[in-house]
Amino acid sequence: MNADEDLRRAVIGACRELARLGLSHGTSGNVSVRRAPGFFVSPTGMAYETLEPEDIPLVGLDGRWYGRRRPSSEWRFHRDILAVRAEAGAIVHAHPRFATALACTGRGIPAFHYMVAAAGGEDIRCAPYHIFGSQALSDAALAALTDRKACLLAHHGIIALGGDLRAALKLAGEVENLAAQYCTALAQGPVEVLGEAEMRRVLEKFRTYGSQDASDPGLHHAGDALP
Ligand code: 13P
Ligand code: ZN
Repeated sequence: MNADEDLRRAVIGACRELARLGLSHGTSGNVSVRRAPGFFVSPTGMAYETLEPEDIPLVGLDGRWYGRRRPSSEWRFHRDILAVRAEAGAIVHAHPRFATALACTGRGIPAFHYMVAAAGGEDIRCAPYHIFGSQALSDAALAALTDRKACLLAHHGIIALGGDLRAALKLAGEVENLAAQYCTALAQGPVEVLGEAEMRRVLEKFRTYGSQDASDPGLHHAGDALP
């Protein structure tokens, strides 16, 4: 198997994972992975179960595409994000239930929970509505993604990016989980949000979260052997 086939299979795997996780239904959503100087992206309007590696087109940054299937109608925002966000290796777009419901109110997700920092900042913005597949939608998404790895799209869905497909999928799932929690909290009454200073502390702490070397003055490694 060559590297391109591996990438095409990875796109198919991510599409199926979106369906398995309940993040997208039918042919909604799309997935891309960087393949310099362009990207592989899921084809437009095809059921994920039927996809084969040859169904995944390659798109250049100039809009030229190669393969037997036409690229996703959202190739523009995949192209535009990959062009300016060097750290992004993959992009996931989906229409998950809670995040999309929230985006239908035009609302983003404020710092009601510290995990909002997973998207890179103190909130997850909602880009204003523009028709799917348009350059205007891409421009709005790019602006909402400034200093962020995810955003909502009004009356549409979400975009999440990551260094690789696994990271982008994980963040998409996290955004949907946060949206579900936020919708649930909103239904109980006014929701408190964490302040800017606290979110800055969270973002700083996130930089070493999960790392074996993270310092914690209360913890002391006393050896591998149990007492
Ligand atoms: P495609 O099938 O063209 O990828 O479109 C799905 C979608 O979610 C459009 O926003
Ligand atoms: Zn969509």
